[in-house]
Amino acid sequence: MTTIDVSAVRTRFTGQIVAPGDDGYDRARTLFYGGFDPKPAVVIRPSDPAEVAGVIALARETGLDLAVRCGGHSIAGHSVVDGGIVLDLAHLRAIAVDVDERTVWAQTGLTAGDVTKAVAERGLAIGFGDTGTVGIGGITTGGGVGYLSRKYGMTIDNVLAAEVVTADGQILQVDADSHPDLFWAVRGGGGNFGVVTRFKYQLHELPEVVGGMLLLPATPEVVHGFIREAAAAPEELSVIVNVMPAPPMPFVPEHVRGSLVVLGLVCYAGPAEEGAKVLAPIRALAEPIADFVRPITYPEMFPEGEGGEEFHPTAASRTLFADELDLPRITQILERLRTAPAPMRVTQFRPLGGAISRVADDATAYAHRGRAFMVNVASFLDGPDTRAEREQWVLDTAAIAENGAPGAYVNFLGDDGPARAREAYPGATWERLTQVKRQYDPDNLFHRNVNIPPAS
Ligand SMILES: Cc1cc2nc3c(=O)[nH]c(=O)nc-3n(C[C@H](O)[C@H](O)[C@H](O)COP(=O)(O)OP(=O)(O)OC[C@H]3O[C@@H](n4cnc5c(N)ncnc54)[C@H](O)[C@@H]3O)c2cc1C
Repeated sequence: MTTIDVSAVRTRFTGQIVAPGDDGYDRARTLFYGGFDPKPAVVIRPSDPAEVAGVIALARETGLDLAVRCGGHSIAGHSVVDGGIVLDLAHLRAIAVDVDERTVWAQTGLTAGDVTKAVAERGLAIGFGDTGTVGIGGITTGGGVGYLSRKYGMTIDNVLAAEVVTADGQILQVDADSHPDLFWAVRGGGGNFGVVTRFKYQLHELPEVVGGMLLLPATPEVVHGFIREAAAAPEELSVIVNVMPAPPMPFVPEHVRGSLVVLGLVCYAGPAEEGAKVLAPIRALAEPIADFVRPITYPEMFPEGEGGEEFHPTAASRTLFADELDLPRITQILERLRTAPAPMRVTQFRPLGGAISRVADDATAYAHRGRAFMVNVASFLDGPDTRAEREQWVLDTAAIAENGAPGAYVNFLGDDGPARAREAYPGATWERLTQVKRQYDPDNLFHRNVNIPPAS
């Protein structure tokens, strides 16, 4: 069967059903990124894990493709599907903080911003990425690299347990003792192994941070110095160094707009005085164009209304790791950024290390623990005709940055194909993931993801 009787579906679930012609259908099929126009047969927002199992059963019965959606930030557009069923977790929003234990159970309809805010009300924190609207389902199953990673590890390093609905409809409670292989795989293996309906996270006391945006002129020396200082800094400091044309924002002087700048996002997870000292060498690299770095609460790292609901960019992008980012390499990358065909282009450098690197490569499905830098290159499209040109620019720029073993962070992969999936999961990690896949999803029902086929 390749069609679906929507009126029968409506009687089968208490959760929300959105089908073609319904109010909200277009919104339900729109993701953060533009450039996709899929028209699902139905979007189902289950009201509890049992209904999640019901949606999985429906996908099996109908044979329709199943997409799983949490925050809708999939770079490859995996969380919607043309003609298929979208399992949208938006209505699973329960959250329970245990202050004494410093843990939280959070259902996966919540975003990173939702959970960050809720735990901060108790003086606690958990690190996700750099954007509050990203869903905890996608970022956690893929890994989670953000403002607290060098201090407290990746998001997956703070996962204590999960509830997973598997392809055969079982609702499993998984942790280090119960279904340990599945617990290992959902920490970095993406959405391949089932639908996670809630995570239990370890929290950390974090009353304040020193953080915000630092805008500097983009010379090779400044970019190289920023990366070098951040990588050598105490692990309380995590930074994201974006090199891009200065946005036309009110605080950017007219003559600077459009020229290359370093848009640094910094977060020092510790006392204000120490943070100021650690940041001094970075601030000294050049006269800042703007300096918004100050003592703040952690949720203030995620400004409200970022981008806005109508912002759906389309971009070509490439993610990679680098072990070394020396001055000649940075100089070449800046030259490419300066002469790029696209008005909007960016190269992003993320120094890693710290707590990320203290976890063994085989402890979770993220096996790039020793890599020094993550680099993301993106070029925004101005219509479909510009795709080929922008993709080529991205590839050529990425080739300058890439050194050391080929690798990829799954959450920043677009539709890059199976070879890159292998780069995301090198060697033994791939073998083990395919075995776990065979055990929990032998028919590859969950295939709208960076796919790991079951071992044959
Ligand atoms: C603007 C932006 C900023 C970003 N910044 C960062 C960052 O700083 N750090 C970082 O690590 N990543 C970052 N990412 C990448 C982000 O982590 C991934 O795109 C992630 O998959 C998004 O999660 P989502 O729930 O919003 O996405 P969705 O599109 O809803 O889901 C993506 C995929 O994740 C899987 N999935 C989602 N929820 C579940 C679930 N509950 N159970 C099983 N599988 C599930 C499914 O395969 C789904 O197709 C960013 C992405 C964007 C667009």
